[in-house]
Amino acid sequence: MVYNLTSNDIDTIVAISTPKGNGGISIVRLSGFDLKHFFDRLIFSSLIPKQASLKKFFDSKKMVIDEGIAIYFPSPESFTGECVLELHCHGGQVITDMIVTRCLELGARMARPGEFTERAFLNGKLDLAQAEGISDLINASSKSAARSASLSMQGQFSLQVREIVEDIIDIRKFVEACIDFPAEDIDFLDNKDLKKRISSCIEKLNSVIKRAHQGRILQEGVNVALTGRPNAGKSTLFNLLTGYDSAIVTSTPGTTRDVLREKVLINDIPIFLSDSAGLRESDDDIEKEGIRRAEEEIKAADVVLYIVDCSNRNLNDEFEHELPLVLKFCSDGASFAVIFNKIDILNFNKNDVKGCFYPFHLVSAKKGLGVNELKDFISDLVGVDEIVEGVFSARKRHLTALSEALRFMEIGKQQLNNTGSGE
Ligand code: GDP
Repeated sequence: MVYNLTSNDIDTIVAISTPKGNGGISIVRLSGFDLKHFFDRLIFSSLIPKQASLKKFFDSKKMVIDEGIAIYFPSPESFTGECVLELHCHGGQVITDMIVTRCLELGARMARPGEFTERAFLNGKLDLAQAEGISDLINASSKSAARSASLSMQGQFSLQVREIVEDIIDIRKFVEACIDFPAEDIDFLDNKDLKKRISSCIEKLNSVIKRAHQGRILQEGVNVALTGRPNAGKSTLFNLLTGYDSAIVTSTPGTTRDVLREKVLINDIPIFLSDSAGLRESDDDIEKEGIRRAEEEIKAADVVLYIVDCSNRNLNDEFEHELPLVLKFCSDGASFAVIFNKIDILNFNKNDVKGCFYPFHLVSAKKGLGVNELKDFISDLVGVDEIVEGVFSARKRHLTALSEALRFMEIGKQQLNNTGSGE
């Protein structure tokens, strides 16, 4: 939708578009309905649209503030859809401030954060998914996240969703025609083409959902909580995955009390890893508080890894008593897995794992055994076993809407199969 703002609604905004501080160059950007006034009083010259020109930038006393590149993008061929003027000046804080001050004197006002993109959206230059893609691209913390944001920014996500919407509208038109003109010779229920179209729509929805889901994970990251008995090796594993010794490792049980959190990239996926107190009965007030915090951490986790010391001969007892306590705190939809640690002590292997109904993996955090495989195991649990081609950055609301659409299409398919004569 284009909001068709009039000149009265549009005041000229100005902002420094490059990061604060000193650098080679900085860019001051103006956007508004008519920038002639700024050409006349700031650079005393006209500009050829979309061409870089070397110009002097003047203050109110006609003193030169700086010399740099000016580029003029006339409306509507600009980022915001309005007239945009970019002034590339030397990257000193004082110089950029002086240029901005001059723009303010000439009637511009400081842009609010994100206002250039907001105007681009309001003027129909971008849709919301593209605007969010820009923000995701700027904030991307891994190459995969940047690639997915870039696809959303270029409109790939919106394009594919629009394609599905058009398919659904076509299907609906057909169904309505059959209802409105029952006398026509259309055997609606036995129409194989309709079934095919619904199935193809479901396939497209599944594919977009998978890519949007991965994109969301790449942008926002996932919370992974390490839990288990005191001394199972949680802190050792935490240090190994984060790459440095932030958690204290000791053979004295019950020493981890505060929750430690670190952001790590595992197979390019941002993971917020937490190490907290081991769950057990305790009379120590500080440890009790640590255990309460550990429970909160488990509740908030997308993935809970229950660390087991597999040199403990009483594993059955632990599986019967402690493990269910942890499961009780896991939120709906969280993934749960068991990590058998300390496999170096008794040469523990997969054949020794009995009665574990959860996904599991074997490691020695101390010796670094099975750690690369553990990273793949975590990616699997997170649902990003392999990053598919063309992942989009997406928000939760996109995923909710796409999943709803999928649900309705599946109901439609089911009903058609129930009443029709089948494929
Ligand atoms: P936490 O209480 O669960 O955080 O356990 P820690 O990480 O503090 O480890 C408790 C003890 O087990 C320390 O002495 C560690 O060195 C030791 N430990 C941890 N992982 C391993 C392992 O894979 N093999 C062996 N042999 N010892 C380990």
